Amino acid sequence: MNNKLVLVLNCGSSSLKFAVINSNSGDEIISGLAECFNLPDARIKWKIAGKKKSANLPSHSAHSAAISYIVEEIIKTEEGLAEQFVAVGHRIVHGGEKFTESVIINDAVLEEIEECSSLAPLHNPAHVLGIKAAQSAFPTLPQIAVFDTAFHQTMPAKAFMYALPYNLYKEAHVRRYGMHGTSHLFVTHEAAKALNQAVEDTNIISAHLGNGASVAAIKNGKCVDTSMGMTPLAGLVMGTRCGDLDPSIIEYLVTRQGYSLKGVMDMLQKQSGLLGVSGISSDFRDILAENEKGNKRATLAMEMFSYRLAKYIASYAVPLGRIDAIVFTGGIGENSHLIRTQVLALLSIFGYQIDDEKNKAARLGEQGTITVDGSPIAMVIPTNEEWVIAQDSVKLASNQ
Ligand code: AMP
Repeated sequence: MNNKLVLVLNCGSSSLKFAVINSNSGDEIISGLAECFNLPDARIKWKIAGKKKSANLPSHSAHSAAISYIVEEIIKTEEGLAEQFVAVGHRIVHGGEKFTESVIINDAVLEEIEECSSLAPLHNPAHVLGIKAAQSAFPTLPQIAVFDTAFHQTMPAKAFMYALPYNLYKEAHVRRYGMHGTSHLFVTHEAAKALNQAVEDTNIISAHLGNGASVAAIKNGKCVDTSMGMTPLAGLVMGTRCGDLDPSIIEYLVTRQGYSLKGVMDMLQKQSGLLGVSGISSDFRDILAENEKGNKRATLAMEMFSYRLAKYIASYAVPLGRIDAIVFTGGIGENSHLIRTQVLALLSIFGYQIDDEKNKAARLGEQGTITVDGSPIAMVIPTNEEWVIAQDSVKLASNQ
């Protein structure tokens, strides 16, 4: 079979993650990160055939210079590689209610992505810059948009509405959208395979636990509820984000504690979560290490993380009725046996019994069930959002 390669781009405001994916096998041929955009030390690093490489980009480079470097200095220097590209796939954080699945990017789609910037002001403008740069670097290749929000568009109104005046939904698009959809979709399909069930008959609770974290209730292969909201700030305790919060705290901090609104929002997004509670780090490995040493705030941060997640999972018994499996994914979900132990212990009312050996073995990319025979099932499934983006891109490009 001919290789069909896809350049997958995930453009942020000051960085750009990229990967070259073989859409047949899912193999990552190149992966890398360009960062420090618009700063004197803009740079790029990448991995190819197991070798790590890096270079400085011209001072103050941004998306366009980074993409030119990827094309001219990385892809074109590998003999025969450029000819195998069939599409460029873009990860887009917010597709509002407009996009329920991946689409080929044309002028109208680009405009809609730009319009969704009010819902994701940090992400969507950067995606637009990335798309435009990729269009000029690859004028003949189809560009595909894959939305983080799309998988969640099947949620019913009772799950996605906030109990606010209805016109805020109709006129200002205020509702729950949910994120990490590509990851939740991927693990849903992998879980169905592992359970030997049709996706259409599979009910799972997917916990994507990375720096950002969200949990989704998936019924008959479709999302029916999720923890992130209109923005990625809602739901679980995250690396630096607070997750769910009494909204009156914001008013209290502004009117009584001398914060500006911007200051509060910055704090909720960048100084809260694991970092805020522990005072140590947003990186879960640091929290684990401090917990080992007996640091009480590290222990508290971990307990809050597990407790909030377990409460969400328990509440998703309501929309699901039957739970075929709980799936752990993302950097923390795939690697921390301790968090999985804590969460399943909190869910013992449902009968979950962890298998310590299997639980400890499921790390560093190892997939598998972590509960004992006879227990309701929990499993670890390493996510692969890039592969979903590559597969959607090839499918749409070949239908063109
Ligand atoms: P992600 O955003 O999916 O890349 O996940 C990042 C998070 O995963 C960070 O908090 C990391 O500390 C955490 N993580 C990565 N590797 C491990 C590990 N071996 N054990 C525990 N946490 C990990």
